[in-house]
Parts: sequence; C-alpha cells; structure tokens
Amino acid sequence: MSWPSNQPDQPVTDDAQRQAWRERFGESDRAAGIETTDNFVQFDQMNDLFTRAFWDDSVRTKDSDAFFDSYRAASAPRRGDGFALKDFALRNAAWAVSDILSNRGNEAGLREGFQSAIVDDTPVGEHKLPVDDPAAMAGEIKQVAKLFGADLVGITEVDERWHYSTRVDTRDFSRADNSLPEGITHVIVLGHSMDYDLVRTYPSALAGASTGMEYSHEAAIVIQLATYIRNLGYQAIASMNDTALVIPYAVKAGLGEYGRNQMVITPQYGPRLRFSKVFTSLPLAIDTPRPLGIRQYCDICTKCADACPPRALPFDEPKEVAATDGGARSTIKGVKKWSADCEKCFGYWAKLKTDCAICMRVCPFNHDGRKLVDRLFTRLATSRLRRWALWLDQRRGMPARLKPKEWWSRLVAR
Ligand code: SF4
Ligand code: SF4
Repeated sequence: MSWPSNQPDQPVTDDAQRQAWRERFGESDRAAGIETTDNFVQFDQMNDLFTRAFWDDSVRTKDSDAFFDSYRAASAPRRGDGFALKDFALRNAAWAVSDILSNRGNEAGLREGFQSAIVDDTPVGEHKLPVDDPAAMAGEIKQVAKLFGADLVGITEVDERWHYSTRVDTRDFSRADNSLPEGITHVIVLGHSMDYDLVRTYPSALAGASTGMEYSHEAAIVIQLATYIRNLGYQAIASMNDTALVIPYAVKAGLGEYGRNQMVITPQYGPRLRFSKVFTSLPLAIDTPRPLGIRQYCDICTKCADACPPRALPFDEPKEVAATDGGARSTIKGVKKWSADCEKCFGYWAKLKTDCAICMRVCPFNHDGRKLVDRLFTRLATSRLRRWALWLDQRRGMPARLKPKEWWSRLVAR
C-alpha cells in the first residue's frame, strides 16, 4: 500500500493559531524547556513510524511484517542469548493484556490505546462530587493513581498542540476525527517504571517483556483511574499512546526533562518508564515544570548516541525539523529538540524482531538507586558539578548487558 488516497486533508496549523498558543503556553513552555518555532504544525498520526510500517512502502519490509507477526503466533526463536523460544514467549505474554484491549475494537477500526483512545465502559455518573479545592483534589487523585499502580503522577492542562491532528482508522489506514469531547480541561500523566534487570538485557526478545509488562499494567491503571473519575460525575478518557504525544505532556506535568535519547528522563527512574494519560473535566490544580539539570547534562553527554547500533541518535545540539523539509516524516515539525532518525531506529528493531532500548539501558540516569556511586552520579549530574559527573561516568564506561541466560538463572534462584 502507498500513501492513502481519497483522504480528507490534514487540518492546517496557521499563524494565528501558533500565536494564540504562544500567548497561552509561552511561559510554561520556557519553564519546561520546550521551544516551538514558526514552522510548528500538529503531528499527523498517519506519519507515526509504527503506522507508516503498515502503509508506507519506504518503511514496510519483510522484516517489519515479521517483526509484528513475531508478537503473535509467529515468534522468531533463533540462536543467540535472549532470542530463544522462552524469551519470545515471555515477551509476548507480557503484552497479552494490552493486546486484548487493543484488538477488541478491530472491526470498528479502533486500535485502542495506540491508534484510538480507550472506549469508555462506564457512563459519567449522575451524581457529581463538588470540588471546592482543586489542589486537594489533585493530591487525592495522585494517591488513587498510585494505589492502582502508577509510579509517578503529574497533572497539566490540555494543550492541543500535542494532539494528533487526525487519528488513523486501522481498517483501511484512512484519517479519522481525533477530537476530544467538549469540557476536557486537564491531563493526568502517569509514569510506569520498567523492570530494571529486564532492561539490563537489552537488546533481546527477553528485554521486550519489560516494555510489554508496562503496557499491560498501564492499560489496567488508566481504565481504573478513568472509571473512578467518571463515577465522581466527571468526564475521563483513558489513553496510552493514542490521541496525543505523551512526552511533552509528561514534561509539562513536571515529571522529567527531555533527553538526547528521545525519552523523558526522571530523577527517580531515569528514562526507564512508559507514560500514559487520562484526559478529564475534573477540576484539578496543575503541576509546574521546573529545571532539573538533566537536560543540561545531556548537552555534554553522548553515551546513548555512542551506543546506538544503527547510529539513529543525534550527536549535535537540539534543532527543529521545518514543515517544508521533505524527510523526517515521523518527526514533529517546528519543535527545537533532539530527534532520532526513526527509520534507522525501526529498521534495527525489524531486523532484531523485537524492540530495542539500548539507549535507555546505557543512560547513566538509569539505575535502581541501590549503589552509592549511582546516587552520587545523579546528585552531581544535576548540579553545577555536572562535568565531574561526566568524568565519573566516563571512567565507568559503557554498562555491560546482563546476559539473558544469567537473568533466567537468577529468576529460578529467587
Ligand atoms: S545517555 Fe547521556 S545524553 Fe543520552 S539521554 Fe542519558 S544522559 Fe542524556
Ligand atoms: S532504540 Fe535502539 S536503535 Fe533506536 S535509537 Fe535507541 S539504541 Fe538506537
């Protein structure tokens, strides 16, 4: 399949719209380290690399088809530590709950959690809880989200810049309406930390279990939190990767800073998280992003880019991709940031038949806090002494991959 024909045009982001956004979000953007330019346009989900892998012949290959098939019955066991049958089996089992959810709306073209928001199973309750104190309500909602299993929770206001201009109908990869119902004002952003030891085995099919587990966990958590809010009499839409880009929302909600490896790096878990969100009309106080010093450390570190096998990560400073640039279809236009070569990155995943997160594994902020040297690193790296932290980290070198066979023997020895 090539570029879908007979589609409605992508909605246009014009100068008046950009100016209105600048006036509304300029101050909080500066606090969050987000910089947009006059070339900014909302991202079209059709251009998401994982969506392109189904319609764009420049991305779709035998390897990419086999990559997706390997998550179902046609797993791809082979020689090589971490790519045996049980490694694929564990990964695919970890994804199972998320898969059940994302497949249930196939006939309606809704791949829930990925290409469309999760469809409500419960109506908004008839009785509305009065909210006199949005700050107290925000504190309570964060504790409820943690009770359901979220590791980090932040709250920010709805910002349509990060919403897909259109979503994709997965029946025929046509464009579909992506608007939220009237009255949605806030986004609750949830962070889900990935298993430290499984992440240490990247690259491997086994390591993919750390990703699948958190998608399955977050599916349950966002549904539970949205259901709770709807029972309070307010709108709530459970969302995973669908509807909007979660990275700017996580940064705006004060959970971390955007790093060279394209991930949100948090003080608590480094980049070792997945993020989900709940859009709601519940009155809530919002969090304020503040400089954490992580981004400044990324300015002097290139460890993730050095370790990336297909050289997909940038070594230079953050820069924008302009709306007129022909390439970089999967990169949002008009945002000054570090951007990966998504085609190179996904090409590597397709060859492996599993996801890669070497750039997450090697990041020095990815540690479990048990070792003094790791805690010292984070303290130094986020201070003015960041060059000392760089020196310390360079002396440690690239962290060794945990051998998947070793991971399995530790599991049995527990
Ligand atoms: S490895 Fe270094 S440059 Fe890359 S994200 Fe981590 S701290 Fe930033
Ligand atoms: S996921 Fe792997 S291939 Fe992609 S940018 Fe990170 S290290 Fe490179």
